Amino acid sequence: MYLPDVELHEPRSLAQASALLSEHGASARVLAGGTDVLVDLKTARTRAAHLVSIQEIEELRGVHPWDGGIRIGAGTTINELIASPRVRDGFPPIVEAARQMAAPQVRALATVGGNLASAVPCADLPPILLVLGASVEIFSGEQRKTLPLDAFFTGPRRTVLAPRDLLTAVRVPQMGPGFGAAYARFALREGNAIAVASVAASLRIKEKNIIQEARIALGAVAPVPLLARQAANLLVDRPAEADAFDAAAMLAMRAASPISDIRGSAGFRREIVGVLARRALNTAHVRAKETLR
Ligand SMILES: Cc1cc2nc3c(=O)[nH]c(=O)nc-3n(C[C@H](O)[C@H](O)[C@H](O)COP(=O)(O)OP(=O)(O)OC[C@H]3O[C@@H](n4cnc5c(N)ncnc54)[C@H](O)[C@@H]3O)c2cc1C
Repeated sequence: MYLPDVELHEPRSLAQASALLSEHGASARVLAGGTDVLVDLKTARTRAAHLVSIQEIEELRGVHPWDGGIRIGAGTTINELIASPRVRDGFPPIVEAARQMAAPQVRALATVGGNLASAVPCADLPPILLVLGASVEIFSGEQRKTLPLDAFFTGPRRTVLAPRDLLTAVRVPQMGPGFGAAYARFALREGNAIAVASVAASLRIKEKNIIQEARIALGAVAPVPLLARQAANLLVDRPAEADAFDAAAMLAMRAASPISDIRGSAGFRREIVGVLARRALNTAHVRAKETLR
């Protein structure tokens, strides 16, 4: 497995990167950490004559405050995300998901933007970011736009990004009192194994333990990371307790449309979704209650 001949471009601004992507069209790919795209080039899953590296674009790095929440630059590595005090203190469920990704060596290169833009259904960050109500920033030539993360994925390995577009950041709103979230995943081993199934859940509870707001997201069991809306809606205005979580977990299982592969059958994956949904909801509930103490 050798890397084919490619020309490497190292622009220093978004405008230069976007211009290069426009110039080379279908023969160009964005290179962030390279942990997906270089493997894909070596195995001929994808072809490219030009790689436009975004590693030198300062604007894409780091975690910054944004409107009470945070703005995570697309070029932030997973290890930088885990080490960020802003994420660790304000958004621990993101760290929980990021720590389960790959292994430290891969996380040193892999970026947040790459994890989303690769649009692999089993990626670990999309489910937790979906239940946190994240949105994405896109740079398209001279234009910038923002859209909900839920509208970003269009199919396996496909997103709304046009060839010259760059994902620049992820915005995560403030969680606030009464809010808790959790990520639960099942993989065949702990390190360097992609998820067989994953579930993220978030709850906002008000007085008397009543659920005000709920989200449940599924990974690795549908063509895209998926919000299980019916399952989450069932929880709203109900007491946060085991019966409600069981009922929501059943609906989450129904929302899944898994495939069978070497990691597990479709039936097994669906069962696992039920187990993980209960686990994620219970943990999210405990965390939500802690914020009200
Ligand atoms: C051994 C190994 C284990 C792994 N385990 C896991 C795991 O457990 N969980 C998991 O989720 N992933 C895993 N991965 C996959 C991978 O590490 C992650 O998806 C990673 O976050 C990709 O980021 P990157 O910066 O390396 O992306 P790259 O490989 O550089 O890019 C990925 C894709 O996104 C595009 N892209 C990247 N950044 C942008 C941008 N800002 N704008 C537009 N397009 C962009 C690229 O063109 C390419 O198509 C693993 C990979 C390896 C090699």
